[in-house]
Amino acid sequence: MRVCVLGGGVIGVSTAYALARDGHEVTLVERHADVARETSHANGGQLSYSYVAPLADPSVLPKLPQWLFSRDAALRFVPRLDPHQWRWCAAFLRACTRARSRATTAELLGLGFLSQRLMHEVVEREALSFDYVRNGKLVVYRDQEGFEGARHQAEYQAKLGCVQRALDGAACVALEPALAHIGGEIVGGIHTPGEEAADCDQFTRCLARAAQRDGVNLQLATEFSGLRTKGLRVLAAQTSQGDIEADAFVVCLGFQSQPMLASLGVHVPVYPLKGYSLTLPNANAQGAPRVSVTDAHHKVVYAPLGERLRIAGMVDLTGMNPHADDARIALLTRQARETFPNAGDYDAIQTWTGMRPATPDSKPVIGATHFRNLWLNTGHGALGFTLALGSAQLLADLLAERELPIDGDAFAPGR
Ligand SMILES: Cc1cc2nc3c(=O)[nH]c(=O)nc-3n(C[C@H](O)[C@H](O)[C@H](O)COP(=O)(O)OP(=O)(O)OC[C@H]3O[C@@H](n4cnc5c(N)ncnc54)[C@H](O)[C@@H]3O)c2cc1C
Repeated sequence: MRVCVLGGGVIGVSTAYALARDGHEVTLVERHADVARETSHANGGQLSYSYVAPLADPSVLPKLPQWLFSRDAALRFVPRLDPHQWRWCAAFLRACTRARSRATTAELLGLGFLSQRLMHEVVEREALSFDYVRNGKLVVYRDQEGFEGARHQAEYQAKLGCVQRALDGAACVALEPALAHIGGEIVGGIHTPGEEAADCDQFTRCLARAAQRDGVNLQLATEFSGLRTKGLRVLAAQTSQGDIEADAFVVCLGFQSQPMLASLGVHVPVYPLKGYSLTLPNANAQGAPRVSVTDAHHKVVYAPLGERLRIAGMVDLTGMNPHADDARIALLTRQARETFPNAGDYDAIQTWTGMRPATPDSKPVIGATHFRNLWLNTGHGALGFTLALGSAQLLADLLAERELPIDGDAFAPGR
């Protein structure tokens, strides 16, 4: 089958790779001169297969006023005159029930475990260089209530196959000595030894080369502008380099998926959640963490990437504008410096901002639309790197009408 994949982030490239391995003739369309130039470029770098609990949870409801009124909150909401934003928020609030949060956790864990297995297979099969480490992840809590909630979550996830253990503050510092500076504040932590970290940008670029070797036609510097349709069939993708005809089309346009498909009446419940990252070059071996760390209090993640330390955080529900807010970068830098003061030269940090393509229930949208040959693989929110390979496999299995390795209905558009 001729398949046209739209978007060259980690999701589009993983999809193209999986489809080419299935024997399809694949063209990938990306507007930049290389892949992974947008949200997949400098994200948190955590392959966080066991930390997939959705943002939509009853525990966030008391925090909503803080999101609206505090400029220093980890999550910030600025209401816009935008019906799409309001619809997204209403669906988010509807998803904030204990039952839905638990069901979503179980479904995302299934996709996470599949992705982890596939990552191990890809690493085994391909010569990829992407600062990949299996270093485990430690989430530390500075308040008793947060830690208790995390312990209950870990107990629930243990029944679903997660291997995690709760540690007290001293054990957290013993595991990751770079935490010593805030050791007195740490109430406890959850350690997941099987978690991994890597550079998403390098991964995506290496996988794109492997996909090219398998026959994928990478059509870079090519702007996609719309779809030519006839009835309920898509005939061609319209691009700056001319029309691309294919038998099937897969939309992997990240946070742009929604506006690009709205005119066709295809509803994609994706809204951007802006975030920021800092990259500390030449991280200090003593002062920077070697285990991936999440500071639950500030909602900031730290991942070692070779000689570098990647720091990421902030969730801004502030609209489609991808520009950086200097005050948010300054806040993230201050929090990182206070947590790991000896991690390296903070004056040398590189800053970045990206737009997480988020759905209200934190689950990606994978499957067919009402156009018979138009498929979606998008909406991976804060977990796109983690879930990329499993999502690509699911899409390829659906397209081939094969038996699915996990429950596909959980991720279907219009679920
Ligand atoms: C601060 C931050 C930290 C994060 N940390 C993590 C983490 O630790 N672990 C994790 O798993 N995930 C993390 N994520 C989430 C992850 O980065 C995203 O889920 C993932 O990158 C989404 O990939 P994508 O391919 O869907 O989107 P993108 O990477 O944005 O790819 C979409 C592509 O489509 C292209 N495109 C769009 N419109 C057009 C057009 N009209 N024509 C042609 N091309 C077009 C874009 O140029 C882009 O390359 C983080 C995100 C942020 C912002």
